Amino acid sequence: MVMSKLYPVANIDLAAVQYNLQRVKQLAPNSRVMSVIKANAYGHGIIQISQALSASDALAVARLSEAIQLRDAGIRQDIVILEGVNTAIDLQLAADYSLSPVFHNALQIELVITISLNKPLEFCWLMVETGMHRLGISADQVDKALQDLTQSENISGSVGLMSHFANSDLINDPRNQQQLDTLLHCAKPYSLPISMANSAAILSFEASHNDWVRPGLMLYGASPFADQSASDLGLKPAMKLSSELIAIDQLQAGDQVGYGGDWAADKPTRIGIVSIGYGDGYSRQLSNKGTVLINGKCVVVVGRVSMDMIAIDLSMDTNAKVGDEVTLWGDDILTVDQVAQQANTISYELLCQISERVTRQYHG
Ligand SMILES: *Cc1c(COP(=O)(O)O)cnc(C)c1O
Repeated sequence: MVMSKLYPVANIDLAAVQYNLQRVKQLAPNSRVMSVIKANAYGHGIIQISQALSASDALAVARLSEAIQLRDAGIRQDIVILEGVNTAIDLQLAADYSLSPVFHNALQIELVITISLNKPLEFCWLMVETGMHRLGISADQVDKALQDLTQSENISGSVGLMSHFANSDLINDPRNQQQLDTLLHCAKPYSLPISMANSAAILSFEASHNDWVRPGLMLYGASPFADQSASDLGLKPAMKLSSELIAIDQLQAGDQVGYGGDWAADKPTRIGIVSIGYGDGYSRQLSNKGTVLINGKCVVVVGRVSMDMIAIDLSMDTNAKVGDEVTLWGDDILTVDQVAQQANTISYELLCQISERVTRQYHG
């Protein structure tokens, strides 16, 4: 087999992403799907993922810049801007690019009803504050806001009502039902599209599915729950992150490894140096804690993660040689969710952190 010279590499399985989208549709058969591809599609590559997700009813990003990047790449689907826009120039750009901003505060609404766009917005959303206290207008302002938006000449299409769960990863937490009730109460006098559910709610809270669901993490085959794996949830991991062994060192008892020397061999030990580090997005929190796979064996990271390299203990794999592939996550026996737990964070963060320096290779 010819070795790839492109390490570190994130192998992205587009068929897995499409499979996970089908899983969303199976779980929420009566809802339309707004696929969330913000933050470079959770590190997977925004353009390739948006193309793979063409069977979605819309795409969603956080910012105008991300939406324009998609349009410039020729993506024609509806694109929702979850943070909306705050200036007249940006609102005009949103109209020019046929984008769908979310309005989440009084200033944004004031803006759209006072300026004159040379082309109306077609499809917009109003974000309602229901308990997270991040973005959204309060429930008692919804009637006025909807009146303003639907009467504005700058909006020609429908306005949907959305909100966002703060605790959807906690199944059956009463706060989830309260948030949903608040949104449904606001929506009751109208027949407008409603959207509440992110991945965790799609997977665990059917009553919240409503007209539009907004999956992010689950599309990439990771689990939003601390105690259920992606495979338990019927999801396929989309990213396998790997690199290669670039050196092997034989240590004597007492030899220290890496910056600060905070790991030392207690007996003669073979260690391997792997070409991946925090400069690639491999979290420094994994220093002395993370595990990686080499030749099917799970081995530990020793010493601190540095910018370009990590050291691993090769006592378990005496046959390891320079050039061997090392998997950081994405294998069935080492999921990104497990590595996130080792790093004391969530898979969302590990995936988003994968830097430009890592080659993305697409297949499927
Ligand atoms: C990021 C985001 C989502 C997707 O959340 P996941 O937990 O990744 O499914 C949905 N809605 C909003 C408003 C978001 O910001």
